[in-house]
Amino acid sequence: DVAARATELSKIYGQGETKVVALDRVTVDFPRGRFTAIMGPSGSGKSTLMHCVAGLDTFTSGSVRVGETELGSLKDRQLTRLRRDKIGFIFQAFNLLPTLTALENITLPMDIAGRKPDRQWLDSVIGMVGLSGRLEHRPSQLSGGQQQRVAVARALASQPEIIFGDEPTGNLDSRSGAEVLGFLRNSVRELGQTVVMVTHDPVAAAYADRVVFLADGRIVDELHGPTADSV
Ligand code: ADP
Ligand code: ADP
Repeated sequence: DVAARATELSKIYGQGETKVVALDRVTVDFPRGRFTAIMGPSGSGKSTLMHCVAGLDTFTSGSVRVGETELGSLKDRQLTRLRRDKIGFIFQAFNLLPTLTALENITLPMDIAGRKPDRQWLDSVIGMVGLSGRLEHRPSQLSGGQQQRVAVARALASQPEIIFGDEPTGNLDSRSGAEVLGFLRNSVRELGQTVVMVTHDPVAAAYADRVVFLADGRIVDELHGPTADSV
């Protein structure tokens, strides 16, 4: 059972002398209810792979499936809707709206989509990330770690098919980073969420069940956990 899958996925930027093969026939599954980390040196194609699978970027050849949906056949508007309805995002920069409270930030994507969050689910998510006493605060009144917890709760709120994190701990000190990674791991273990995280940090990757290594646009290795228990 896979939440997402890339098959023979290639992404080529530019042409002629400026041609760059960012992804070279990558085939990879993202199993449902698992925490996958994507690692590799700078320029190896991690962000490109994430962006293609998350419907943020088009690809040159191959196919991508999220849930039952093939992305290759979708128009821009349908891709936007797929991202909104099926995918949660956590970025290095927390990307919160400064004028909204923590709670308003958490529910914003669902408000935009015209969906009502499941109250019980929302409460459990907010409780899990330890934000119960901070819901009326604005981002400027929260620490970086607390802001990223808001972003984690926002990603979880809609119970998306899959959550993508792009260096989600890149702007955090190691303690706050460990907390956020712990929440992501708990969301997988306790809530059955599927998480895919791009990182160059081996400490962060150790929280995953599985690590996929990229080099020069190809998958060169795959490690299976539970590595996290040694952290
Ligand atoms: P990583 O996330 O592992 O650092 P990227 O996916 O960002 O790697 O990049 C993979 C390769 O694709 C690199 O060689 C990079 O220079 C190239 N690349 C990424 N984005 C673009 C772009 N918009 N135009 C041209 N080349 C790009
Ligand atoms: P980088 O990986 O280069 O540091 P970011 O992680 O900030 O860049 O963003 C990566 C890509 O994701 C960008 O192309 C941006 O357009 C897109 N993006 C950033 N924030 C969001 C968001 N909240 N929702 C959807 N797409 C986003």
